[in-house]
Amino acid sequence: MGTCICPIDAQFFDQVAALLTPPTLPQIQEYFEVLEAKRHCSGLKVKPDAKHGKGVHSEVNFQEDDLILKDEMLVGAQHSSNKIDCFVCSFCFRFIGSIELQIGRKLYLQELGVSAVDGSGSSDGIGCNTSSEKTRIPQDTIQSLMNSNLQLPYSENFPLPLVVPCLGGCKEAYYCSKSCAEADWDSFHSLLCIGHGSSSPSTEALLKFVKHANETNDIFILAAKVISFTILRYRKLKAAHVQREGKHDSSNQFDSCIFPLLLEAWKSVSMGFKRRWWDCIALPEDVDSSEKVEFRMQIKDLAFESLQLLKEAIYDKECAPLFSLDIYGHIIGMFELNNLDLVVASPVEDYFLYIDDLPVSQKKEVENLTKPFLDALGDDYSISCQGTAFFPLQSCMNHSCIPNAKAFKREEDKDGQATIVALRPIFKGEEVTISYIDEDLPYDERQELLADYGFRCKCPRCIEEQL
Ligand SMILES: [Zn+2]
Ligand SMILES: [Zn+2]
Ligand SMILES: [Zn+2]
Repeated sequence: MGTCICPIDAQFFDQVAALLTPPTLPQIQEYFEVLEAKRHCSGLKVKPDAKHGKGVHSEVNFQEDDLILKDEMLVGAQHSSNKIDCFVCSFCFRFIGSIELQIGRKLYLQELGVSAVDGSGSSDGIGCNTSSEKTRIPQDTIQSLMNSNLQLPYSENFPLPLVVPCLGGCKEAYYCSKSCAEADWDSFHSLLCIGHGSSSPSTEALLKFVKHANETNDIFILAAKVISFTILRYRKLKAAHVQREGKHDSSNQFDSCIFPLLLEAWKSVSMGFKRRWWDCIALPEDVDSSEKVEFRMQIKDLAFESLQLLKEAIYDKECAPLFSLDIYGHIIGMFELNNLDLVVASPVEDYFLYIDDLPVSQKKEVENLTKPFLDALGDDYSISCQGTAFFPLQSCMNHSCIPNAKAFKREEDKDGQATIVALRPIFKGEEVTISYIDEDLPYDERQELLADYGFRCKCPRCIEEQL
């Protein structure tokens, strides 16, 4: 007796396998040519590479400190814990509002956090007995900062874009512009919004999913954005297809056209994934090698839990293969391995540095006004916006322990795009490399970290040092 495989299951697994088939080299090159043209970066080319599969090569000469690439993210998210510190556009991650709003909002949320922890409830600021050593600002002053009744000196030199709310009416996502609000709605947020305008079949399930992610690992929120992005793109492609071809009254003929549309919608994601999350996650230091397998199983279980919650929130039958654990693991692994931090420097830091640099004659008077706020914010006043993102072109850059380029934010880079600058002159035809790890570590530690990426580094420095 043979095992009976339901034809529907067989088709499902075939489709998952098709989604997980790495793109061919011509497909990769075609995809990146379009990207390069859009990004107006003519100096780079993604080329096949015998050692790593693919790599980014320079087509011109770059000088030291030259900007090599500004790469737009495919998907990114601010860390949940960072949302208290920085109020940024949910699409481009630019700081929004005003210096006063950034400071007021942070003090307000800090205060909320303190009250929640020490139970002091309705404390009214400075002078009240508190365990916190930070100066406390009275609630009504904090409110004045937030509703722009109070203006701090020289803040007009640090203008920020006005806050635009979410189109779906949630109180979670805010933007720097109408165009960012619309782009986010179109690409990700309409399916993940918990407002009244959401197209999620169950915003209640969505809330459960987000809660689970915040309590366990906020990388799940990023994975949800990738799935939402693919579904929304698929729906657009399908609508265009139906308009072109007309609908064959839900016959099989139409069904067989659907899957290629899903593959097409998935294409930009397929450029990025490498390994499943539970196979590539770095082991925490307190896990020794005998517990390795068990640890990876726990991670897999956690991903399964999260996926079930996401399924309840945004499942789409036509995109069923996207909700397989295998796909979910690969999406999360993509963020784990490409190791691309999203960082945007804080204008609040710039503001206080500016005040500190004022001529002595003005400084004293100004500082009388600003210092209480600086003290209340404490050491955290300069925290930058932090998160994780996937940058398609940057992710193609190979690692070297003596890299010729690095990710670096310049003064003028105010949003979440990745910027790569040359560390030394790079010549036409040379491969552009960055370091995935802290390259100052000794040889053995570097190799150990890089093992999670699935390779042993054989860069010139490692070859020399292994002897
Ligand atoms: Zn924006
Ligand atoms: Zn929303
Ligand atoms: Zn190396």
